Amino acid sequence: MPCLFCKIIAGEIPAKMVFEDDLTCAFNDINPQAPTHVMVVPRRHIGSLAESGAEDEELIGHLHLVAAQIAGSHGLSNGFRTVINTGRDGGQTVDHLHVHLLGGRAMHWPPG
Ligand code: AMP
Ligand code: ZN
Repeated sequence: MPCLFCKIIAGEIPAKMVFEDDLTCAFNDINPQAPTHVMVVPRRHIGSLAESGAEDEELIGHLHLVAAQIAGSHGLSNGFRTVINTGRDGGQTVDHLHVHLLGGRAMHWPPG
């Protein structure tokens, strides 16, 4: 049974795509927490950062470079935040590795 983000990647569930390449795609979060809130996800299913391995090293770097590129194209010149939630305590709710790109407002620290 494909996961939610695998279904979005396959086009079986609609999403507003903002970026696509061979390895990744990025779409608007359905419940945005900032004016810009984009999910950057690998096309290949990886359950979480904790489930990733050495073979994913380049891919995980690529996800972050894609996030920075999208931040540029969305005019986030004042800065932005990238977040990976992992596991129950990390607040992960969708079990397909994703980088949150948040921007368009000042972020707070520490996160909740
Ligand atoms: P996390 O809680 O870190 O696992 O993040 C999962 C994110 O996926 C949340 O910010 C959700 O709002 C978002 N999300 C859930 N369902 C969808 C969907 N159908 N399309 C776009 N984003 C979604
Ligand atoms: Zn998946």
